[in-house]
Amino acid sequence: KDFVLMQGFENDLNQKLQHMKTDMNARRWAVRCGAPHLALRPLSPPRLSPPRERLQDYLAQLTLNSVATLAYKVGKQVISLAEGMPNEEMFPFARLQLRTKTGKELVLEGSELAAALQYMPSQGYPALVSELRSLQRALHRAPTAHDVLVTNGAQHAIYQCVDMLVEPGDPVLLSEYTYTGALSVLRPYDPELILIPEDESGIVPETLESVLESRLARGLKMPKLLYVVPTGSNPTGLVIPEHRKKQIYELACRYDFLILEDDPYMFFNFTGVRTPSFLSLDVCGRVLRLDSASKALSAGLRLGWLTAPAPLVARAELHSQAELLHPSTLSQAIILRVLSDRAELAEHAARARHFYLERRDALGEALQVLRDLADWTTPQAGMFYWLRVRGVDDVYDMVFHRAFSRGLMLVPGQAFMFDSARRCSHLRLTFSKLPLHLMPEAALQLRDVILEEHKL
Ligand code: PMP
Repeated sequence: KDFVLMQGFENDLNQKLQHMKTDMNARRWAVRCGAPHLALRPLSPPRLSPPRERLQDYLAQLTLNSVATLAYKVGKQVISLAEGMPNEEMFPFARLQLRTKTGKELVLEGSELAAALQYMPSQGYPALVSELRSLQRALHRAPTAHDVLVTNGAQHAIYQCVDMLVEPGDPVLLSEYTYTGALSVLRPYDPELILIPEDESGIVPETLESVLESRLARGLKMPKLLYVVPTGSNPTGLVIPEHRKKQIYELACRYDFLILEDDPYMFFNFTGVRTPSFLSLDVCGRVLRLDSASKALSAGLRLGWLTAPAPLVARAELHSQAELLHPSTLSQAIILRVLSDRAELAEHAARARHFYLERRDALGEALQVLRDLADWTTPQAGMFYWLRVRGVDDVYDMVFHRAFSRGLMLVPGQAFMFDSARRCSHLRLTFSKLPLHLMPEAALQLRDVILEEHKL
């Protein structure tokens, strides 16, 4: 409840929050009953005159949609004394002007600026929601009825999905090394983690299958969810090719688990092959896809979008409503402008890919001084090298004492392990921000640090 107060919500939201939790629990039951993607009942359609016993639903709809949107949905003109919104005429801003690096003007003023400064439906700024629906259709052509929810970045969407789907003790499938932010979301839910090793093409389907088969044979609880970063995995930099995605998707259908596809590095794929997403393979509504504006557009705008079977999106929308009402409308208005110029977006993505490719290659070249001390494969996408230091079975001291004391910052592999007390000989090296001219020095310093570690 503290977070509700921190967001400055009205007191009566606590009451609505109770309702949301109850609703979330109802959904959890549906999930527990077996096929979550099929079992979710649709939310009741919006109506203006609810029966008294549905008052809670009505209040939920109000916060979710605003009275005007609700009235629009049910096709009525209203004089509203209901909306708890400030009047945007009293906001001090008259015009917002941004210029892109290619010289394109992005101006928000008048009614458009007023909308960008106002509360919005929790699903997102309606114009952005419809733009995202069309973008997702164009990029992924998901064969089933998916819908979109705008989120505060992919991180927020991971949290929402885990909170919706994972109960304490639930088995969850992860790759052996997993994005720290996903691990920190999962930890409080106390899941049983099933770690699947990766080869140079990501999660190994044969191992996944034998793990699932053996759980089934032993009568163990089957996993509900696989969390996977298919393009430029953080930390391993791997890309899962199409044939392997198909194998994994088939296993998801056979063993009935959902796939949480977290794909923030989609635009930084250096393989030259555009691999279809898990979402584009989804024939029975079991893929929840997370996209992010952070890596290619702006991390500080805090915007991402969840694309998932419509009933799940509706539940996640309730989640957003109780948690934060909605992500920043201003950020949504800006991203809407950027996404709606598809040609410009494609050009920008190509420039960004080229920029990161150059950095990847520069660091790769600099790392040659470590050839006799470490092993790595060139990352196929994303922003990271994943390097195994030979002869060092635990990099912890090396990172936190020897490297830090020289001013060399590294991330130890433990950061990507659920059990961070385990030993790990990997390092994650980020090539996105370090200026090109510092890369050789970084590699030489790392060489000294490893040699020092060997001497001890
Ligand atoms: N998923 C992965 C795999 C990431 O690497 C990151 C950012 N480090 C995120 C999600 C979080 O992205 P966002 O900024 O959209 O919340």
